[in-house]
Amino acid sequence: MSIPPNWVNPEPLERYNLVVIGAGTAGLVVAAGAAGLGAKVALVERYLLGGGLSQCRVCAL
Ligand SMILES: Cc1cc2nc3c(=O)[nH]c(=O)nc-3n(C[C@H](O)[C@H](O)[C@H](O)COP(=O)(O)OP(=O)(O)OC[C@H]3O[C@@H](n4cnc5c(N)ncnc54)[C@H](O)[C@@H]3O)c2cc1C
Repeated sequence: MSIPPNWVNPEPLERYNLVVIGAGTAGLVVAAGAAGLGAKVALVERYLLGGGLSQCRVCAL
């Protein structure tokens, strides 16, 4: 898995209500939940959305 070649990081806003580090299972749920409640949320991920589960090559899901 790799980052799409034409990927461009979004321009950050000046302020957020919540900054979530890591878009694994926990981060995705927290970020989506807070955004659903109306918060301005920044979700920061160093690799790809999905975290450990999406990058695991040997997991039986
Ligand atoms: C070998 C293995 C097999 C597993 N198999 C299963 C299974 O079959 N079924 C199942 O339900 N669960 C399984 N699990 C457990 C499951 O992977 C975890 O419970 C789940 O992924 C944890 O989610 P998380 O969001 O807490 O962390 P993670 O999924 O680890 O996500 C953390 C994210 O944070 C990012 N991150 C970390 N530091 C930074 C930083 N400084 N800046 C930006 N981003 C950062 C990482 O890149 C990652 O994407 C397995 C775990 C392991 C290790």
